[in-house]
Amino acid sequence: MEVHCFFCKKDYSITRSDPQYIKLVQNRGGSYVCKSCNQSMQRDAQASTGLHPDQIDAYDKFLK
Ligand SMILES: [Zn+2]
Repeated sequence: MEVHCFFCKKDYSITRSDPQYIKLVQNRGGSYVCKSCNQSMQRDAQASTGLHPDQIDAYDKFLK
């Protein structure tokens, strides 16, 4: 399915293997965030929370 990244506005083609696929199918009009934007958001979150690397690791596991 064709998606449009909410942040960088680039077009991507995703399949069922993409973790966001189900979410987008169920929620038409939901926003897709591509991997590179996702990573930069995570970096921003880590920078703004000032978490210790150990805590970031736990936080990351929690998200997955
Ligand atoms: Zn993007």
